[in-house]
Amino acid sequence: MKTRNFGFPRIGAKRELKKALEQFWAKEIDAAKLIEIGKDIRKKNWEAQSILDDIPSNDFSFYDQILDLIYTFDCLPKRFRQLQQKENLNDLELYFALARGFQNETSDVKAMEMTKWFDTNYHFIVPEFYKNTQFSISKPIKIVEEYKEAKVSGFETLPTIIGPVTFLWLGKEIDKGFHRLDLLDDLLASYSVILDQLLEHGASKIQFDEPCLALDENPLIQECIKKVYQHFAKEFPQLDITLGNYFDCYGGNLTTVLQLPIHTLHLDLVRCGEQINDILNHELFNENLHLSLGIIDGRNVWKNDFRKSLEVIKKVEASIGSDRILLSPSCSLLHSPIDINLEDEQSKIHPEVKPWLSFAQQKIEELEQLKVLVAEKEPYQHPLYVSNQIDIQSRITSELVNNLKVQERVKNLSAKESQRASDFKSRKVQQAVALQLPLLPTTSIGSLPQTKEVRKNRSLFKRGKITHEQYSDFIKNEIKDAIRFQESIDVDVLVHGEFERNDMVEFFGEQLDGFTFTSHGWVQSFGSRYVKPPIIYGDVHRSEAMTVKESAYAQSLTERPVKGMLTGPVTILQWSFVRDDQPRHKTCKQISLAIRDEVIDLEKAGLKVIQIDEPAFREGLPLRKGEWQSYLDWAVDSFKISSSGVKDGTQIHTHMCYSKFNDIIKSIAAMDADVITIECSRSQLHLLNAFSNFKYPNEIGPGIYDIHSPNVPSVYDMLDFINKAKIKIPLEQLWVNPDCGLKTRGWTETKASLEAMVNATKKARELF
Ligand code: GLN
Ligand code: ZN
Repeated sequence: MKTRNFGFPRIGAKRELKKALEQFWAKEIDAAKLIEIGKDIRKKNWEAQSILDDIPSNDFSFYDQILDLIYTFDCLPKRFRQLQQKENLNDLELYFALARGFQNETSDVKAMEMTKWFDTNYHFIVPEFYKNTQFSISKPIKIVEEYKEAKVSGFETLPTIIGPVTFLWLGKEIDKGFHRLDLLDDLLASYSVILDQLLEHGASKIQFDEPCLALDENPLIQECIKKVYQHFAKEFPQLDITLGNYFDCYGGNLTTVLQLPIHTLHLDLVRCGEQINDILNHELFNENLHLSLGIIDGRNVWKNDFRKSLEVIKKVEASIGSDRILLSPSCSLLHSPIDINLEDEQSKIHPEVKPWLSFAQQKIEELEQLKVLVAEKEPYQHPLYVSNQIDIQSRITSELVNNLKVQERVKNLSAKESQRASDFKSRKVQQAVALQLPLLPTTSIGSLPQTKEVRKNRSLFKRGKITHEQYSDFIKNEIKDAIRFQESIDVDVLVHGEFERNDMVEFFGEQLDGFTFTSHGWVQSFGSRYVKPPIIYGDVHRSEAMTVKESAYAQSLTERPVKGMLTGPVTILQWSFVRDDQPRHKTCKQISLAIRDEVIDLEKAGLKVIQIDEPAFREGLPLRKGEWQSYLDWAVDSFKISSSGVKDGTQIHTHMCYSKFNDIIKSIAAMDADVITIECSRSQLHLLNAFSNFKYPNEIGPGIYDIHSPNVPSVYDMLDFINKAKIKIPLEQLWVNPDCGLKTRGWTETKASLEAMVNATKKARELF
């Protein structure tokens, strides 16, 4: 039995990569220095994993592994070829231009598109393919160079690479008249060049990751997978090839992959434990195939339960013997924080929760420990096992985890709690009376500029340098200015500005029972952007109001309605590490009850409009369509539990950032928010089609200008936007608002933009 890892976090224990990249982009360090820092991170990573039998190379990247392939195969979008010549870019400049765009006096080229890596919060660069795309390899090949580099440092590594089918599948066609998988033959030739060189430098194995196999089965993908791996087996019979898939089972692809002439098949047994039985009992399971058992959760933070893992391993061992087994994480550890031991005495982490956690470094150790235990005659007496089980038991029985009242409350939820008292039509009448809003009401999405001042004061407060009172006075002042400003330009529904919030999930998590936070648990989101998700470890409970003070204060300053501002249950769930000891929907229901209580408290405090943001609603969709409905059902239900505790006259808003709506519009409508605001300006309104085709009955505010850029939108453009929007959605249903929150903007452009927005609306009211 062997142990294997095929991807370690690449950001460095102290976020060295982020610092280096930012310095490089700011021209504070040169390319040589950046390259040296990369080398250093790789070496440390190999050392950290050296207790394993197989450790990966080529899992490092300066930005993204798909971008690395685009670059390796030289399949750049045409605009970047022109840019490269025009600006005479060197290799690294070109590489980062692809990821981040390139602007100077003479050129302005937009970055390549980025999108989510399957259902994770990691984002990759989307390859762009043309009918005549040709792949070629000219420069030194990254995967080969890193394999050699490891060797020089004394590490024999397992080169890992995204397989050709997934690489093509994740890309998009720029011109018409072909399918990107048509490019496979040409691409295979370039992969062969890589394999040739790896062999030449002494590699004997390689892992290809083809997570497109976790998507809905598709005959085209299956054909291509067959072609690729038969081809490699034939051309490189001496190479030991692993095929990896993760984030779900092989599902309908199993028959295809079991017939491939590969050496090892990797299984994600965390997301899909049952598949091991299907495989062991499958008539096509051949007696030479090795299995890489992904038993350690690569995407979550919990200590592995050795009792459960040993059970699985023993079962497989009894069936195929130990020689054909590899123990591995379910997926690349790219999605895990690096090391729980970085959380020292100063850490924010709950000390009782800490022993329940396992980050990348600990996951590596767990693999090794499991291997030791499997080889033991009496594993259950072994100190490694005993100490593991002490932590596992302490988590199961802890009072921190279990709050019987909350469990009881979720159990007793009835349909009544997820239903407003009356339907939208009658609510609308009551809200019209309560709010007295004009046609095309104007509002914003919640946050206003988080200036240096705001951030400085928060940090002073957190470090105990100013008192609670001083901080609270400061926030109050910001709120007051914000309210006065919005009144002065005549916005209809005001916001308090969210100045007291660092992050829309962390702010709530910090006030809810059942959440803890790390000080160093960073995970890469994209490029140099990392996130530090909260950890939900126990039953979620709200013991006191979280936002009432600021919102009520804002409301006390004005006659106009102020919008209370909350993050929705699905988004809080989606952007946290969640418990693995109960289904996600159960945790989500608990959060929705906490938000429900807050909504009711806001109403009591006099807020007549309350927004529950759900920007991550679409993100939660499972990879396979067959599982969508059950997710949508509980996600909608959770939102409705949060929002349905108020009177008919109280107006509930929700907000979603850029998402596709056409295939989930029924569920969006089922959420039954009185008003939904969506990000829309960059999509030329086509996102509204989903709503107009569906005859969406409630009100909707399509974002009228792009908040990602500091440009002040013109009154004319916005008037034109409203004119176009009213063709799709009746005027009486429309709101006017920016695309998203304004916290990343400065005040100057924010003031000018919002003022122009209100003026455009006034013109529209006259004209239309
Ligand atoms: N209310 C939040 C804000 O304005 C919404 C943020 C978001 O949509 N991601 O900042
Ligand atoms: Zn948004």
